[in-house]
Amino acid sequence: MVVGDFPIETDTIVVGAGPGGYVAAIRAAQLGQKVTIVEKGNLGGVCLNVGCIPSKALLNVSHRYDHAQHGEELGVKAENVTLDFGKVQDFKGSVVNKLTGGVEALLKGNKVEIVKGEAYFVDGNSLRVMDETSAQTYNFKNAIVATGSRPIEIPNFKFGGRVLDSTGALNLQEVPKKLVVVGGGYIGSELGTAYANFGTEVTILEGAKEILGGFEKQMVAPVKKKMKAKGMTIETEALAKSAEETENGVKVTYEVKGEEKTIEADYVLVTVGRRPNTDELGLSEAGVKLTDRGLVEVDKQGRSSVNSIFAIGDIVPGLPLAHKASYEAKVAAEAIAGQNAEVDYIGMPAVCFTEPELAQVGYTEAQAKEEGIAYKASKFPYQANGRALSLNDTDGFVKLITLKEDDTLIGAQVVGTSASDVISELGLAIEAGMNAEDIALTVHAHPTLGEMSMEAAEKAIGLPIHTM
Ligand SMILES: Cc1cc2nc3c(=O)[nH]c(=O)nc-3n(C[C@H](O)[C@H](O)[C@H](O)COP(=O)(O)OP(=O)(O)OC[C@H]3O[C@@H](n4cnc5c(N)ncnc54)[C@H](O)[C@@H]3O)c2cc1C
Repeated sequence: MVVGDFPIETDTIVVGAGPGGYVAAIRAAQLGQKVTIVEKGNLGGVCLNVGCIPSKALLNVSHRYDHAQHGEELGVKAENVTLDFGKVQDFKGSVVNKLTGGVEALLKGNKVEIVKGEAYFVDGNSLRVMDETSAQTYNFKNAIVATGSRPIEIPNFKFGGRVLDSTGALNLQEVPKKLVVVGGGYIGSELGTAYANFGTEVTILEGAKEILGGFEKQMVAPVKKKMKAKGMTIETEALAKSAEETENGVKVTYEVKGEEKTIEADYVLVTVGRRPNTDELGLSEAGVKLTDRGLVEVDKQGRSSVNSIFAIGDIVPGLPLAHKASYEAKVAAEAIAGQNAEVDYIGMPAVCFTEPELAQVGYTEAQAKEEGIAYKASKFPYQANGRALSLNDTDGFVKLITLKEDDTLIGAQVVGTSASDVISELGLAIEAGMNAEDIALTVHAHPTLGEMSMEAAEKAIGLPIHTM
């Protein structure tokens, strides 16, 4: 701290400007708070800079490249389809820049003071912000901590060189010939698929019995089928043991059912999970209680064990997803403004942008069973939907979980093309407490993928038109 540093007073200070932090700052400012946001890296956090957005830009271009080469079945034959990966990276960068520039404009437009630097809590009402040359103390009435998470490093796979974390994989300057992905969760599966579309030979090593463990087996099946069709190799129950750099690449040693194997590749991408950024923030010193996994313990408003400090996003329990961070952000800002807001996660969707996409909201069958809920599951296949047929993308289904007693919708799972969009309506229906009849009676434009939700709802009430 600079000697003679006079503390700056603010109402609400937000630490971290990802989808949690910047949304919290804007909402708090809208509700009349004097707000300061502190960010040590780039505005937009992981999601906009090295997460959701750049990964979806890469995936989108990879689909274009893949489709351009494989249209024969539909009568489209293209010769000499080429890939300029430098341009792909430029495109990705331009999307990121547009969005992060937009965040800055929104923060300024809402009169949020943006401070560059690293925040460190001194106590429950003050923190210090340090950059390379100076330090400044801020006194606050309330703080919202949204410092996000970082990739977990595993023994013998030190990040750097040929061992990539997700950021390294997003920023490759050439398409690798061979890529090993350690961890078949959503990040590894999405990035693996993108590179497979660009022509990389991809091997996924997954420690568990299945990849994409957060989704039901029957949902994951079409994804695995498609991965295999792309030439991707999936090794499950595979324990990654070490990565050793070779002259031109990396040798990965792993073990499957007691048998040791090796595989050589240009790079190995390690995506085995993320760790909350709560260890270098002074939170414990300020009295904030953390779980044994380093997550901040919070109540339904996001308030930690210290009354004036709130926490949201990847540093609190629950799914580490951008929209969850933004949702919690609004609740915390509203709670600080004295409103009666509380989180309710029943309508929280989870999406994975593999091929086909996976999306779910509310209860799965397994969860309903576990809680002893009397439910009905009603499925409608993509194969029977006109839009899906015209898109030549017919793998997948829409499944509704409804209560037996009154057909109230309590959950939905979608696997198939554009599942990420199909799920939105079903989340809304759950939030609104709708039943299958409400969805069945809603006129859906034809031909759309959304019609499958209506058809599955008709099935739930025993009146299906396009299935038996
Ligand atoms: C490759 C990849 C793809 C993803 N795809 C999706 C997706 O499709 N959909 C989805 O919902 N989620 C996705 N995610 C997850 C999503 O990015 C995170 O859930 C989300 O960014 C969490 O938001 P947050 O605000 O909690 O934290 P972050 O976005 O991580 O932001 C935290 C910010 O805090 C800053 N910070 C940390 N410590 C300090 C400090 N001491 N002082 C000042 N600033 C600090 C960091 O620099 C960072 O900018 C993806 C993640 C990755 C890695």
